[in-house]
Amino acid sequence: MAITRFAPSPTGYLHIGGLRTALYSYLWAKKTKGEFKLRIEDTDQARNSEDAVKAIIEAFDWVGMDSDCEVEYQSKRGDLYTKYINQLLDEGKAYKCYMSKDELQALRETQEANKQTPRYDGRYRDFTGTPPEGIEPVIRIKAPLEGKLEFEDGVKGSMSFGADQVDDFVIARSNGAPTYNFVVAVDDHLMAMTDVLRGDDHLTNTPKQMVVYNALGFAIPKFYHIPMINNPQGKKLSKRDGAMNVMDYKDLGYLPEALLNFLVRLGWSNGDQEIFSLDEMLELFDPNNINKSASAYNEEKLLWLNGHYIKNVTNERLIKELKFFDCELHGHDKKEMLLDLCKERANTLIELKQAIDNILAVPLSYDKKGVKKFIKETTVDMLESYMVILKEHKETLHLPVDIELVTKPFIETNELKFPQLFQPIRISLTGGTQAPSVYDVIAVLGVEESIKRIQAAIRQNFNKSSLETCGKEEDA
Ligand code: GLU
Repeated sequence: MAITRFAPSPTGYLHIGGLRTALYSYLWAKKTKGEFKLRIEDTDQARNSEDAVKAIIEAFDWVGMDSDCEVEYQSKRGDLYTKYINQLLDEGKAYKCYMSKDELQALRETQEANKQTPRYDGRYRDFTGTPPEGIEPVIRIKAPLEGKLEFEDGVKGSMSFGADQVDDFVIARSNGAPTYNFVVAVDDHLMAMTDVLRGDDHLTNTPKQMVVYNALGFAIPKFYHIPMINNPQGKKLSKRDGAMNVMDYKDLGYLPEALLNFLVRLGWSNGDQEIFSLDEMLELFDPNNINKSASAYNEEKLLWLNGHYIKNVTNERLIKELKFFDCELHGHDKKEMLLDLCKERANTLIELKQAIDNILAVPLSYDKKGVKKFIKETTVDMLESYMVILKEHKETLHLPVDIELVTKPFIETNELKFPQLFQPIRISLTGGTQAPSVYDVIAVLGVEESIKRIQAAIRQNFNKSSLETCGKEEDA
């Protein structure tokens, strides 16, 4: 049973790298019937923003990954951290360091000049003298002076850091504020973490956190450091490549299940399988199989997956999602037919809305090229006769197949080619030549509305004088 967490610092919005880490943590907890917890790491007052916290919570709501406990805020846990800092001081496992900024700077410069990695030299570690005046001390933890800090990472394998790679780092600033690596370790213990999944940019923090665990006598959780998501060129993902706020994906018309499916595959796989329902993710995901190398963001794949989910979720769900894009289909009597028709070609909810609008909106203008190409001298007469057929059978024309049944004989009798009839009708009904099947569009709009639109098109565009104007415009 794994207890996992996602612990974002609200210094910016939640982006997809963070969401992937959260998803992996969530899946692992749920798969093992454990718990997934959300913790907001907001101790850095200067860099945190309330908007970012809101956006993070909003993103979790959107994708439906709920925390199994009240969301914890580090900013509200100050007393706990102080208690543990005092405990370490009392036990001689941490100490006050009175080094001034200038002294620290001078030490760093000397070390750099000697081509050494800057590290604190431990000068106050065993200090028993009188502290210098006027300096508020920081508190440093005693890191091991020799040996190694080792752990078995679930992704990276055996990790080993020599004692020389971790110095006596600061666990509380001179104003008493605890530092990042200290609070993470304390919280992960207090929140009972068994497994910590996080980005591999945190790998070098882990030995420091192990120093804290060891000093406090806490059991060390299992770590999984997840490689980054790069852009297709193998560089760090930028905003342009998709490193946006997770909520931007909602605005762009993605379904959360498509985004999660996309993310689960970015860095983990199960053979060639691309589509994973949440149940399948839960059945198959194992953090021990996370790829060792960085993965590449692939927008086309995300679009393709989104198209898949748009085609496969219920129409009821689509109606609900479309409201966000000001597309209200609830009361429309042909909504099922309309959605079945439009979702076939839509990869995003925005494309779906556009396809719906393309059919439902009364055209305000007509595609000039289409008019020039498909509206001939005989077109109006042909449309008039076709409308007579539609009117005659009006009562029986409900489904696309009903319309096909009266249209095909009309085409044959009049020795027409399909586009001769279909394109003028498409232009009349939607303004352009790109609409789906004419039978479908007439069925969705109904015979009455279709006839109204054909008549309007004839009046406005398809009569002889407008054809002439059209020709003149083109000639001019
Ligand atoms: N707060 C850290 C971040 O947002 C994550 C810390 C962790 O997962 O251990 O990058």
